[in-house]
Amino acid sequence: MGKSVACPVDRCAFEGTTMDVANHIQENSKESHQWEVLRWDDRDEFCRTIHFNEGQRFEKLGQEALDHGDYEAAIENIENGISHFKRAQEFAEDPSTLTEHCQDMLDWIADIEVAEQIQHIDDLVDLAENAIDGGDELQFHENPRSAADEYNTATDALNEAITVASRVAPDRVPRLEQRLRRVRVRQESLELSESHHSIRKLVISAREYTTAGDRAFHESDYETALDNYEQAKRDYESLSSVFDAFSFDEPVPDPTICDVCKQQYTEKLNFWEIDLGISLEVCPLCTRFGPDGNLPTPRVIAAEKRAVVENIESIQDGDVGLVWSSDTPQEPIPDTSVSEDTSGPDRRELLIELVGLYQRFGEAPTAEQIDEHTEFGYLEYRAQFGSIADALQEAGFDV
Ligand SMILES: [Zn+2]
Ligand SMILES: [Zn+2]
Repeated sequence: MGKSVACPVDRCAFEGTTMDVANHIQENSKESHQWEVLRWDDRDEFCRTIHFNEGQRFEKLGQEALDHGDYEAAIENIENGISHFKRAQEFAEDPSTLTEHCQDMLDWIADIEVAEQIQHIDDLVDLAENAIDGGDELQFHENPRSAADEYNTATDALNEAITVASRVAPDRVPRLEQRLRRVRVRQESLELSESHHSIRKLVISAREYTTAGDRAFHESDYETALDNYEQAKRDYESLSSVFDAFSFDEPVPDPTICDVCKQQYTEKLNFWEIDLGISLEVCPLCTRFGPDGNLPTPRVIAAEKRAVVENIESIQDGDVGLVWSSDTPQEPIPDTSVSEDTSGPDRRELLIELVGLYQRFGEAPTAEQIDEHTEFGYLEYRAQFGSIADALQEAGFDV
């Protein structure tokens, strides 16, 4: 409203509010400042027209701001427009002319305010979703405290979104509450994660001992190899007992109990599913047993343990020298431990090396990796097993 108006007379420098200019013209006796010369009927028509034009100008600015998504500026301009239209009305013979238009503009502001609130809800949901993703990532990497911070951020954002939505978009409340329940389950899972952590720790330890054992085995240091394999075996045995509390083949009817870890949650767990031959409804922690997770299934653990136990038996039986003597292949190989196919290495040897690589890379090794890191090379695996996937399957891995 503060914008000043210039006197419409050529070369007159006067400016001020509409009323100031109207009074300036009214009180000016010069011919140039007579209403009829200026082609206005009178002071009222002048004031009415100036205010009406200003009202239209602000209305247009409001629409432009809205087109740019600037809700605050839109509302401010529309409000300015309304007050100019109201001033125009004061100078009109029939004061009702602009009433309807002013009411339309007030309704328009109310609509914009709702749109602004809906945008606010969307922003809060985005914020919450990002925090949930961040929390999941941190939880996956064993950082429960930072994960808890992220989940708290998500909870705050969703609670605020629910408050706003219950005012302007009540139909969005149920879905927001559902999102919030999912965060609550995640928060609860952080409290219950101890057994998952111990599985993770034991798996890492068992695999480290196995790798150390394999290395010693390759260097023909069987005593060290045996020590490491025995440690690995102990870890695998502890793992088996931790796994006793878990089940991978029996869905439970209660939707608040995780099918795998059997832990009870206060909310239903029907958001997360893993498929391990059978579809299981699980808690967020147990999704890590799935194909994209970082926890192995008992089946994988059993296969790894079996390989370690076999290595221990080989060393104890004293048949190691022959199996692992490929560095000096000219040595005579006693026929007791060699498979029927005397022209190539035995399948078990091939598998032990392949399992070592699989554990090292965390996935099926490529042909190049096999050529580089095994004594036999990719072609030997292909000749014996058909494919690497087949070989891994024979070793007990679910690939
Ligand atoms: Zn003037
Ligand atoms: Zn679970």
